[in-house]
Parts: sequence; structure tokens; C-alpha cells
Amino acid sequence: MSLDPKRAVAELKELRALTGDENGAQRVAWTDTWLKAREWFAAKVKSLPVEHHYDAAGNNWVTLPGASERSLLIGGHLDSVPNGGWLDGALNVMAGLEILRRIAAEYGGRPPVTIRLVDWADEEGARFGRSLLGSSAFAGTHSIEADRIRNDGGGMKMEDALRRCGVEIAKFPDAAKEQKNAAAYIELHIEQGPVLERIGLPLAVVLGTKGVERHNIIFHGQEAHSGSTPMNARRDALAAAAKLALEIRTIAKKHEDAVCTMGSVKTFPGIVTAVVGRCEVTLDQRDLNAAVLAQMYREAQEASQRFAAEENCTVEWSRLWNIEPVPFHPQLLDLCQQAVRETSATSHRMPSGPLHDAAEVSRAGIPTVMMFVQSLKGISHNKIEDTKEEHLEMSVVAFDRLASKAMDWIQN
Ligand SMILES: [Zn+2]
Repeated sequence: MSLDPKRAVAELKELRALTGDENGAQRVAWTDTWLKAREWFAAKVKSLPVEHHYDAAGNNWVTLPGASERSLLIGGHLDSVPNGGWLDGALNVMAGLEILRRIAAEYGGRPPVTIRLVDWADEEGARFGRSLLGSSAFAGTHSIEADRIRNDGGGMKMEDALRRCGVEIAKFPDAAKEQKNAAAYIELHIEQGPVLERIGLPLAVVLGTKGVERHNIIFHGQEAHSGSTPMNARRDALAAAAKLALEIRTIAKKHEDAVCTMGSVKTFPGIVTAVVGRCEVTLDQRDLNAAVLAQMYREAQEASQRFAAEENCTVEWSRLWNIEPVPFHPQLLDLCQQAVRETSATSHRMPSGPLHDAAEVSRAGIPTVMMFVQSLKGISHNKIEDTKEEHLEMSVVAFDRLASKAMDWIQN
């Protein structure tokens, strides 16, 4: 049995019909629909010469034992956001299954290295606000106490929802046992952005996941009457914030792949007859290079001080969240580039703005790389998420090539 990319696409459609509705994919982690998707998947792997189990964090492992215990890990996630797309996460899993079938057949059930397909639990964090849940438990970067108290806003505690699916938060650290013998990790994913479509390329090598600096910024001025306060006597907090909103574009554009976003602006008192006395904004900055990220953060802080002074205001910053950039493994990047080039006669390297399970695996010290396939219109987390079928098939072929190269690499 050789690789059949068309079967992977057909199975993705099967999964869509089983777990989606007119609003899109409904495989939210820890729900009945998600469990149904996992049952469907378990039935698919039954005929293969594999061992199948769920780890302490609910990650779903399918292992094809090889002559060597050193393992190639192939990962994805069957869970989706509510009203999600049919490919996000699922493409990786179904491409991985197709590759597992090919390898099992080619080596008579016993490949030279062990192959492990993993369907990570709750990549999206859609219900409890905790992304990369299963992979962070695997990586040992997880914090149990912070998650114990989470709830879904509808009265369901995260701890109880997991228990319903047979997962105990207290046992999460046991998932790190799965790291044993892991020699490399590869993940295929839809791009979820517009870059590849714009440059007309089907596939890309992913350099790593960008680091993030996320801050809340408050400008303080003076509330004043909009009729009686002359323009030169105002301390308009919104004016200072507005200058920063434009300046972050200049700050980001100095670097090829950097992005800065002011996603939220709140004004107080927020009425039509008052100068804004307080303006609260958020800033999200991302880049793959830690030095660039630090520079952008510094420049935004300096600019905010300058604009606050110009408007007779003051400014204060507080960090909401941050994560360091995660560059992928240089040798696996090269192998991925070869696989892309051999399949599509093109090559392109780009960082990932969104985080992925691969970032957690890489943080665990396991050599990691990802491959992207083009997304139509750059839309994801939405029912209109799509990719040309020829590109989906091409991605399965290229990813299979990467798997073969990674197996060779592990042996050497
Ligand atoms: Zn995903």
C-alpha cells in the first residue's frame, strides 16, 4: 500500500460530515462531538499494527514500533474552535495517519525507527481559554494550579469537564513520560494567513513560532468639557494613544516579519461631550527574533512616553502576557526545505505568527519543524476556511517526504 493523498482528503471530508454543521466544525475539546471524532479516528487505526493509548493529559498516541525505540513524532489536533474550519489541526492528523499507513506497509509493520502519531488534547483552548493544553503537559511547561480553577463561563469547571473524559488535572505531569525516546517532531498545518496565497506558493518551511509581548497601556490626561476647554489647554489621553496606534506601524515595518497590533481602545468617560481623561489600549507585538521583539517593545515604550509628554499626559504599562520566540531545528529546517522543493519545485521559509503544539514540543528540547500549506483568503477559525484540494494532496506528499528524511536523520 503506497501513500494515497486523495484518501487523506476524503477522510477529512468524512470527519467534516461527522462533526460539523452548517456553521462549521464543532469539535471543541472535552465535548461529545470531540469524543465522537476521537472514536472515529480510533476505528481508523484499528487495522494497523500499532499500540494506541491516551496519556495522562488526554493526548492520543498511536505508536508503530520500529527496530529502534528512537521515535519520530508526527502531531496534530482533532479539536477545533466552535464554528471552526475543517482543516485546522485535522489536516495534520489525517496526513499523519496516511503516512503511518504508508510506513507500516513499506516496512512490513516494522520500520527502522519507531513512528508515533499524536492527536494533542485541547490545542485550541476554545472552551477554557487555555491553548496548547495537552502539548504543554507533555512538555512539562504546564501549570496545574492555574488551570484547576478555570471554568467555561457556563458553570462547568475545567477540572470536571476533563474528569468526564477520564483526565485528572493532578496527573498531568505524567504526560511528560511520553517524551521518552522522542528524536524528532514534525507537524503539517494550514498557514491560516494570506502570505502564501499572495506570493502564489503552495507550501512553506516554518522557521519557528514568533515570540509575543502583550501589554496593557493606560494614558492619563484630564477629563474636561468639550465646549469650554480650548484646544491648547487640553490633556487629551486619546490623542496620545492615537499617535501610538500609528507609530507602532512604523516600529513594526523596520523588520520584515514583525507585527504590532493595537487591538483594543477604551476611552473614559467615553461620552460625546467630554475630552478623554483616560485611555486604555492593548498592544500585541510579535517576531521570531528575540532581539527584534525586545527592540520593538523598547521603541513602543519610548514613543508612548514622548506622545504622553506632547499631550501633557502620563502613561503606564503593565504586561498581560509574553512568550519567547521558538526557532525550529536548523537541520530539520533543511530537510523540510528539501521535501518542499522536491514536491512543488518551489521553496519558501516563513515564521508562524500563531502558536502551535510544535512550539511546546520544541521547548521540551525535541528537534522540531513544521510545514505550512496555503490557506485560501488567509481565513481560519471560521467555516469558510479552505485550501485547494491539489494543495492539500501536495502537502501530504511533501510531508511524507519530510517524514522519510526525518527517519533517515534519526538513524544517522
Ligand atoms: Zn491548529
